[in-house]
Amino acid sequence: MGTGRVRIGLFFAAALAWVAGTARLPSQSPELRWYKGNLHSHTINSDGDSSPDAVARWYKEQSYHFLALTDHNYFTDPQGLEAFLGAKDRFLLITGEEVTSRYGKAPIHVNAFRLQHTIEPFFGEDIPTTLQGNVDSIRGSGAIPSLNHPQFGWAIDAATLAGVRDLGLFEVYNAHPATNNEWGLEEMWDSALSAGREIFGIAVDDAHEFKRFGSGRSNPGGGWVEVLAPELSEEAILGAVGRGEFYASTGVKIEQLRRDRGQLQIKVAQNSDRQYRTVFVGKGGRILARETGLEATYRLRPGDGYVRATIIDSNGGKAWVQPVFPAKGS
Ligand SMILES: [Zn+2]
Ligand SMILES: [Zn+2]
Repeated sequence: MGTGRVRIGLFFAAALAWVAGTARLPSQSPELRWYKGNLHSHTINSDGDSSPDAVARWYKEQSYHFLALTDHNYFTDPQGLEAFLGAKDRFLLITGEEVTSRYGKAPIHVNAFRLQHTIEPFFGEDIPTTLQGNVDSIRGSGAIPSLNHPQFGWAIDAATLAGVRDLGLFEVYNAHPATNNEWGLEEMWDSALSAGREIFGIAVDDAHEFKRFGSGRSNPGGGWVEVLAPELSEEAILGAVGRGEFYASTGVKIEQLRRDRGQLQIKVAQNSDRQYRTVFVGKGGRILARETGLEATYRLRPGDGYVRATIIDSNGGKAWVQPVFPAKGS
């Protein structure tokens, strides 16, 4: 209990220092805000059931700040929609495509963000070369790759994820009912992190159905990211996502989050009478600490390798806080 109070005190001292720093240096430390978004959705330009306009409207009306339309092997250019539905600091469409490949029966789907034209899928001689080839072609066209639903069709195993180069994002949660989502994804993430890959986990809808809602359907609203960014622009949002300045969620909301080289500080927002548990995880998937309550802090110790956090609430909602690594040379 005593250490809990000390930790809470340190948390607020650090938060005050942070706010004070922002006030002194406004041009160097722009104020950061939370922006909620979904980075995986489909329209009638691939196998979705609704127009790009209807899909974007659903998210805007549900108070999301940003959305990526990611049709299979098709670039649904959001420029016209952005002129129509976009609103400064309110709603943004991020460019996207689901680059959709396979090896044999194994589906290998990699989202691309920040693109200008359709990127063709690459077909390799096995699963690892197919994945790497798609990551490389997305990077080669200046876009940002993110590995989708690794367990869909049981395509990607832990060794494949740990072996892929130049991949900074993957889906730790995909709300599509066919993606075998609740099976071993955190273990897979930990083996990649333990192998030295700095990879972050996003939660997405992968929504296809906007007309009929029900269990077993591919509906929107199941998984999202909350990004801490200075403004609502594609550059600022994707930049913050690329640095891990976000959390993935299926229901838990975080009020304050501080990640630096060596420490994670988390303050969860209370929802109704729910209880919260934060689990800090390090190298090899080892549980470093467990905290109950709204606030949790962990400082890296020698041998931890990295620290990330999963927060679980008493109704099954989750949030995943991105890993921090030791400062280089320490
Ligand atoms: Zn897919
Ligand atoms: Zn998809």
